[in-house]
Amino acid sequence: MDIEKLDREFVWHPFTQMLNWESEQNIIIERGEGVHLYDINGNKYIDGISSLWVNIFGHNNKELNDAIKEQIDKISHSTLLGLANVPSIILAQKLIEIAPKNLKKVFYSDSGSTSVEIALKVAFQYFKQKGVKFRNKKKIIAATSAYHGDTLGSVSVGGIELFHSIYKPLLFDTIRIVYPYCYRCPFDLVHPNCELRCAVEAEKIIGFHADESCALIIEPMVQGASGIITMPAGYMKKIERACKDNDVLLILDEVATGFGRTGKMFAAFHEDIHPDAMCVAKGITGGYLPMAATLFTKEIYDGFLGNYEDNKTFFHGHTYTGNQLAASAAVKSIELFKKYNLLYEIKPLISHFEKILEEFKFLDVVGDIRNIGLMAGLELVKDKQTKEAFEQKERIGHKVILKARDMGVIIRSLGDTVVIMPPLVIDKQTLDTLLSVVYDSIKSIQS
Ligand SMILES: *Cc1c(COP(=O)(O)O)cnc(C)c1O
Repeated sequence: MDIEKLDREFVWHPFTQMLNWESEQNIIIERGEGVHLYDINGNKYIDGISSLWVNIFGHNNKELNDAIKEQIDKISHSTLLGLANVPSIILAQKLIEIAPKNLKKVFYSDSGSTSVEIALKVAFQYFKQKGVKFRNKKKIIAATSAYHGDTLGSVSVGGIELFHSIYKPLLFDTIRIVYPYCYRCPFDLVHPNCELRCAVEAEKIIGFHADESCALIIEPMVQGASGIITMPAGYMKKIERACKDNDVLLILDEVATGFGRTGKMFAAFHEDIHPDAMCVAKGITGGYLPMAATLFTKEIYDGFLGNYEDNKTFFHGHTYTGNQLAASAAVKSIELFKKYNLLYEIKPLISHFEKILEEFKFLDVVGDIRNIGLMAGLELVKDKQTKEAFEQKERIGHKVILKARDMGVIIRSLGDTVVIMPPLVIDKQTLDTLLSVVYDSIKSIQS
């Protein structure tokens, strides 16, 4: 059986131009161990992007394996519609324990995209039910170059031209604020002399559209898919203030940033943000199983209470919502954070990571180096002086990741930004190997 041939014949891969796929040598993963992946030919790779930003405690982790095995011998799935189950109850309590203090209720789903859909629908319905005074609050405010998932609602609030523009006729209207992108500042200013003009403009937009806006959704501290674009200090706090002042619900999309990725449990803690809703997914199960949750304040939850015939019920629920296997993995993963004091233990590793990243500035094509916690993006440019980008057809980022692969490292680029996002338990020596391979890969494509 030629498994690679079967893949080409039957599988349509996500975010992948299949014409390229069919002509390239592709890796088929067979197993994982710690921060390493092994393919069917026995080749070993460092998992430099945590299997798309989800893995925390490594692959084939005994404690996570055992938690799932223990659960699987009881039951794998029963519905959360009209029934409860043990692991999802315990997980909800644990999520509330580690989340920003004002969040009190957990609504489960299966992916980051669905966790966003839920936040948007709840925000909309909340104001519908709040009274006639709020009846115009129907719109969502979102940021430029945002990424909130691939379903139509989450694409509506997204702002990445390459992924989203073709679907425009299918999407609902949104109001836009500028996400700070200091390397290519839309106001042509330099931080901190800019005095956060982007935030000042955003405050005006939020104020101007307050009467027609139910919520603002944003990726706190860093945008992921747009190229690891980190916010300057103070921006998030100003947005929070403007939302509170204007009765616009603040939805934090922590799908990428949650569970220690930025060095704190949630990115909200960097500026002590108290959102009205928070979306979590990716790292929630330690990277083991699909699961997501949207956390809400009690005030929002209370807005859905009423007699059945009042129709205030939130009529939404995915079939596998609150799945026991996923919930048991998530419970164990959160316990492991505490058991190994992970957020404290990785501090020196993050400092070391930042120090080594600095050295990438010596490469001719590295225009900008951005990071927060163990999450970094290296933006490659054709001309460092003018910041001129490479042409899309050159696929420079893709060339880098193919080089890295030859040297035993799996990474992925976002356009011309090379992303480095190792599992949080990576040791210093393996991190050094990962970074030196990325360095050499970038160096090798410089002409
Ligand atoms: C990945 C991601 C999503 C979408 O999550 P899926 O599980 O792929 O649907 C949403 N928001 C952010 C910030 C993400 O990084």
